[in-house]
Amino acid sequence: MTVVDETVEWMCGVCRYVYVAQAGDPKGNILPGKPFEDLPDDWLCPVCGVGKEKFFDV
Ligand SMILES: [Zn+2]
Repeated sequence: MTVVDETVEWMCGVCRYVYVAQAGDPKGNILPGKPFEDLPDDWLCPVCGVGKEKFFDV
């Protein structure tokens, strides 16, 4: 049995939106399972529109 326990969530420091890699970002055309580190550099928070540099891991 495989347990996925490497869920790393990244929170937007502005609006507190949480990016969950396992869920992806359907609105931003990010497929589920995409690690935050692999998001394109021009990816923006789907809620408030800030860049990746405003996110921190939680
Ligand atoms: Zn945000």
